[in-house]
Amino acid sequence: MTKQTLSFQAEVKQILHLVTHSLYSNKEIFLRELISNASDACDKLRFEALNHPEMYEDSPDLEVRVSFDAEAKTLTIRDNGIGLSAEEAVANLGTIAKSGTREFMAKLDGDQKKDAQLIGQFGVGFYSGFIVADRITVESRRAGAKPEDGVRWSSEGTGDFEIESIVRGERGTSVILHLRDGEEEFLSGWKLRSIIGKYSDHVSLPILMRKEEWDAEAAKQVQRDEWVPVNKAAALWARSKSDITEEQYNEFYKQISYDTEAPLAYTHNRVEGRSDYTQLLYIPAKAPFDLWNRDKRGGVKLYVKRVFIMDDAEALMPVYLRFVKGVIDSADLPLNVSRELLQESRDVRAIREGSTKRVLSMLEALANSEEESERAKYAAFWNDFGSLLKEGVGEDHANAERLAKLLRFASTHADEGVSFADYVSRMKEGQESIYYITADSLAAAKGSPQLEIYRKKGIEVLLLSDRVDEWMLSHLHEFDGKSLQSVAKGSVDLGSLQDEEEKQQAEQASAAFKPVLDRLKAALKDRAKDVRVTTRLVESPACLVVEEGDMSGHLSRLLKQSGQSGVPSSMPILEVNAEHALVRRLDSGDHFDELAHILFDQAVLAEGGHLEDPAAYVRRVNGLLLSQP
Ligand code: ADP
Ligand code: MG
Repeated sequence: MTKQTLSFQAEVKQILHLVTHSLYSNKEIFLRELISNASDACDKLRFEALNHPEMYEDSPDLEVRVSFDAEAKTLTIRDNGIGLSAEEAVANLGTIAKSGTREFMAKLDGDQKKDAQLIGQFGVGFYSGFIVADRITVESRRAGAKPEDGVRWSSEGTGDFEIESIVRGERGTSVILHLRDGEEEFLSGWKLRSIIGKYSDHVSLPILMRKEEWDAEAAKQVQRDEWVPVNKAAALWARSKSDITEEQYNEFYKQISYDTEAPLAYTHNRVEGRSDYTQLLYIPAKAPFDLWNRDKRGGVKLYVKRVFIMDDAEALMPVYLRFVKGVIDSADLPLNVSRELLQESRDVRAIREGSTKRVLSMLEALANSEEESERAKYAAFWNDFGSLLKEGVGEDHANAERLAKLLRFASTHADEGVSFADYVSRMKEGQESIYYITADSLAAAKGSPQLEIYRKKGIEVLLLSDRVDEWMLSHLHEFDGKSLQSVAKGSVDLGSLQDEEEKQQAEQASAAFKPVLDRLKAALKDRAKDVRVTTRLVESPACLVVEEGDMSGHLSRLLKQSGQSGVPSSMPILEVNAEHALVRRLDSGDHFDELAHILFDQAVLAEGGHLEDPAAYVRRVNGLLLSQP
């Protein structure tokens, strides 16, 4: 074939324009694309050679070589893969609709299709070379063809390309970039190695570059004729599980997470279905310092067919699982996928759902393990990351039930590690609700006067003092058909746990106490919505509760602390213990109003609240102390 000039397909011209102008800010990706093509070409040869081993032409070691010539200002990416015939060069490098990969895929049938999962899809990566080159020359010979059947393709990336026959002994393809003025930075071994390390470390073929040495005489770096690998050439996740040691899994984790400790757990799977992908996901042993920053992107890297696409692809993991580290390698996504595209892709949604379930399974396996040591790992995980799972209860409705089972709490029964299931198994005969109290700290929760009646009756109450608890509770209303009930909201309704006698006593006490209650209401009319006699208290004189549906004191404090304005403030209800000596004395002295306010202030203090006017409280107490003989 003599030299001919052919015109690019109209779409290619558009793509060329688009690629060279819009990808310029991220121009180094051209190397990733060209190495990815070289790697695809090797995968294709490997695949065809399964049935035609002669195609290896006695050199079965597949590899990619990257080299540059500083004087000629060229950068060459050479592979010994499948190569291109003249027709293929015209079709694959001149039009888009006719992707070589597509033709290749069409040739496959049945089972072999699965084997070909590593083969690239329709794309436009090749043209990214024109971001940095004002001419690209491709020289190639197809594996198994005669040397005279080589081809040279060349273009300036504008309207047309030239094509001619050449004699080429070596199999495979060389892509030669004639760099534009100003792109000399790519004529550096150091620069190229760093780009390869960043994007192509896990390409499973060796990527070779010439050894460089400092030549003292010439006072510059010189290239030796010795080729050395510059990538790790090991896509760990693409290997079979049985070939990978625990040690290797851990090392890989440290490499991608910058963690110095081994991970707590990992999961490695090849998923086939709506979307084909491989996942290798890790749960760290310790929380990083910036875990609480919800804007921090996730730790999962996205690869497409072993080519690195992007770090921290947040579309791959829900925000609450931002502690998960690892790799997802998709066989379906296009290499030039953008963040915007990821957000919309159905494949990505399937990956995210699948990966979320995997992480939850890993946690469940630890939490429910027969082995003490595994359960201890879960306890350690919970200490560091538990609050994130609580975020998840509100964020991930599809998995809220599974998440609820993974939650652990402190309770009046044990200081930590209480699951809902534990709680339910200890519920009293006739108990219908799961009781909890929220407070600013565990100590405050434990000391809450509202717990007294539950303690007395031996009913367990969950003690919630985590900042996210209130938020979580606004999304979680029941577990296993049992409603979650705050002991500081509404009136005490222990249902059948309270006997008739007690109920009657309370009613009588309340009736007898009515005159005092009326005076208390009048004295506290600006502070309490209501004042009533309670059965909640055993030792304390008074406590505050809010009406069912009103915001708890703890939550309104949290919101105010976090700087939210316009937090609705509803007045609490003061409940008094008619049996308490202090309450009984109320009526007999002449300090009724003073005592009423002291009771109220003490109830605020007891639940960990702040007094609006502490000085007034001190004055009142001191006044009372001094009035005693
Ligand atoms: P994609 O890789 O997604 O198919 P590209 O634009 O990167 O899209 O490449 C277009 C086509 O050019 C490839 O499908 C392949 O047929 C051909 N090609 C590119 N580079 C090589 C190469 N090094 N060896 C053989 N064929 C190649
Ligand atoms: Mg490509």
